Amino acid sequence: NFNDKEDKSEIYEINKVSARYFRDNLYKNSFALEYLRKRNINAKTIRQFGLGFSLNSWDNLYRYLSQKGYSDNAIEKAGLIGKKSGNNGYYDKFRNRIIFPIIDTKSRVIGFGGRVLDDSHPKYLNSQDTIAFNKGNHLYGLNLLNKHSNRKRILLVEGYMDVISLYAKGINYSVASLGTALTDRQCKLIKRYGEEVYICYDSDLAGINAALRAIDLMLKVDVNPRIISLPKGMDPDDYINQKGLIEFEKQLNNSLNYMDFKINIIREKYDLEKLEEKVNFTKEIANLIKGLKSPIEQDVYIDKISDKTGISKEAIEKEIRGKFYKKK
Ligand code: ATP
Ligand code: MN
Ligand code: MN
Ligand code: MN
Repeated sequence: NFNDKEDKSEIYEINKVSARYFRDNLYKNSFALEYLRKRNINAKTIRQFGLGFSLNSWDNLYRYLSQKGYSDNAIEKAGLIGKKSGNNGYYDKFRNRIIFPIIDTKSRVIGFGGRVLDDSHPKYLNSQDTIAFNKGNHLYGLNLLNKHSNRKRILLVEGYMDVISLYAKGINYSVASLGTALTDRQCKLIKRYGEEVYICYDSDLAGINAALRAIDLMLKVDVNPRIISLPKGMDPDDYINQKGLIEFEKQLNNSLNYMDFKINIIREKYDLEKLEEKVNFTKEIANLIKGLKSPIEQDVYIDKISDKTGISKEAIEKEIRGKFYKKK
């Protein structure tokens, strides 16, 4: 549809103009720069990611874009302003936030993320979906992926700051989903851009559950991901800033294949000293092994669990295949 195309390109243009405006605001507001400096982000990284700042004002961006000649309708379609109640004027969606432009592989600014500089809520705000931006079809960081190397690794993380800090420290192959749960389209993108897929989510309950979900989604597109488990409470941004690149690379080398990761999580629920719990643990793992497509892989894990529990391989196999000795 022709109009749609026109509308989209105007949105990209408005976004680009806004990104430039946010960037200029950042350089004019030392406290915003200071926030980034405290988070170990230097001028080069600010430039590479096009970071910015939205002023603490109700309609500063709106007035700037209007004065540039963009219509209310177009600015609203770009997702940058909302209608005030009672139909009297518009307000800026992003106020008093560090701005993370979301840039696609064609270098178009498709949307924004914004973070507060303190502990207020919501911590992050993301552009709503527009005709030019469907969050589930994009990954943050994809535009910079492998620009400076031809490695075939790709590392999936949770947040903007994770991608940025990793990049600043030399890991230039990470991407993040955009403030929503990972989608199957994003998994396909990941598969297209990397041969070896690593997942390194925040080391908290939410992160572990999200990782389990991400594993299953990646398996559906025939990718076997490896998982990095950071020390409790840390995310990749925390880790690389506190421990450095070498230690992070050690974590990559110590990553677990997804099965071992899942087994470890299940293992923590049971006390294998207790007979009943050992039985239930083995049953749960047997059920997991059942899902493996390859008989060879199945065999490897049957061995492992047999070693761990002392239950015979034969019994575990029977549990998996569901072949019990039944009376006729
Ligand atoms: P920081 O290090 O700046 O505190 P983070 O990336 O560690 O940020 P998390 O709370 O771990 O923040 O969230 C991970 C990602 O989830 C964020 O980068 C953001 O994309 C998204 N997110 C977090 N909170 C919200 C929110 N309230 N609304 C929308 N998206 C959010
Ligand atoms: Mn988190
Ligand atoms: Mn985090
Ligand atoms: Mn963080």
